Amino acid sequence: MKAYECDVVVVGGGPGGSMAARYCAEGGLKTIMLEKKAEIGAPLRCAEGVSKKWLQEVGIEPDPAWICADMVGAVIRSPSGHTFKLDESKAGSEVGYVLERHLFDKALARRAAEAGAQILMRTSATGVIIEDGRLAGVKAKSMGEEIEIRAKAVVAADGFESQVARWAGVDTSLKLNDICSCIQYRMVNLDIDPEYCEFVIGGSIAPGGYLWIFPKGEGIANVGIGVMGTRCKNADPKVYLDKFIASDPRFKRAQSLEVVGGMVSTCPGLDCAVADNLVIVGDAARIIDPVTGGGICHACRTGMYAGKVLVEASKKGDFSKSALMPYEKMWRDRMEDKLYRNWMAKERLAELDDETIDELVKLVSGSDIGEVNVYNLLKVIKEKFPKVVEGFEHLI
Ligand SMILES: Cc1cc2nc3c(=O)[nH]c(=O)nc-3n(C[C@H](O)[C@H](O)[C@H](O)COP(=O)(O)OP(=O)(O)OC[C@H]3O[C@@H](n4cnc5c(N)ncnc54)[C@H](O)[C@@H]3O)c2cc1C
Repeated sequence: MKAYECDVVVVGGGPGGSMAARYCAEGGLKTIMLEKKAEIGAPLRCAEGVSKKWLQEVGIEPDPAWICADMVGAVIRSPSGHTFKLDESKAGSEVGYVLERHLFDKALARRAAEAGAQILMRTSATGVIIEDGRLAGVKAKSMGEEIEIRAKAVVAADGFESQVARWAGVDTSLKLNDICSCIQYRMVNLDIDPEYCEFVIGGSIAPGGYLWIFPKGEGIANVGIGVMGTRCKNADPKVYLDKFIASDPRFKRAQSLEVVGGMVSTCPGLDCAVADNLVIVGDAARIIDPVTGGGICHACRTGMYAGKVLVEASKKGDFSKSALMPYEKMWRDRMEDKLYRNWMAKERLAELDDETIDELVKLVSGSDIGEVNVYNLLKVIKEKFPKVVEGFEHLI
């Protein structure tokens, strides 16, 4: 059996994995990244919407090569059709670019490779190596061949379906209430505004979630929906998406070129995302915005933090849980409050009926809330509908 030796093995070549691999390699660690698929970033499982603000924070320069559309603003639509249009000055931190995600992911992997990380494609981790009770690497199948990768530390960056952390003994299970199932069509022949992302909310449209229209140019968009299975009469999100498309005249001539399905976790992160010789990043750590389902920025941030902490751990020759705890502190300091607040907000908003959502959208459109983000929206809601934010008002 072929065996590899390295400092860090990263499982998963999504944004979280590539960022971890890049920062480990830049810090001089011998790094190997495994990706089970045949192509980084494909097939697509994403609506490709991101805000602009965080890119600089994680050392990514915006590049026209992977920016498909630069948004002017966003529209929030209520079940009965009330809209709230936000221009660029107000669109704030929740809208920005619609990406070519397959190119974005490849650009991140390329940076990792340029920094010196070795990338093994079509290589699926199949288990972990435990030696003397200690995590010592992963077993994998690479192009049909069984291999072993021995490492001082493992980064679990294997996304929503994460298995690596579970194999290593970490409980990554999710409550049914904290899972949204999604489906998306890439549609053409649409009569939509190509400069505005649209979010349609309300229980009759997308129970426990929302419907999105993210333009990718004139007449083309990612049109998708995420629903909370526990809130649906029919747990198949396709039923809700098709119903909306059939009812909206902007889709009269629409045709679909691509269908994408996937799951999103909507909880505020794992109780602890490190263990001895293990760091868990991105979706695998359940670090994703519970309201928007946006996880690209969180995966990039946590990947970067993981890399930085592993480089420091290596200097001390200590990859124990306590040596890796600075990672836990970094992501919690930066994101924990927001994730928790948005998790509570998601729970409450899911309970509201269509009439109340209509009222909320009317209320917000009539208020001058400055920059629009989940935090500022909750501030307005707190004033008029204090019950909605009961229990987490201190975070608003
Ligand atoms: C329908 C949908 C729409 C979304 N829309 C948006 C959006 O508009 N904006 C946004 O910010 N977020 C969005 N998200 C969430 C976003 O896609 C994720 O949060 C993000 O991809 C997380 O990055 P990651 O690196 O943690 O995991 P992933 O991107 O899932 O990468 C994990 C990688 O690990 C690989 N892998 C898994 N198991 C193994 C194994 N055993 N061995 C080797 N490799 C393995 C996978 O093939 C994959 O490439 C959406 C998600 C879905 C499902």
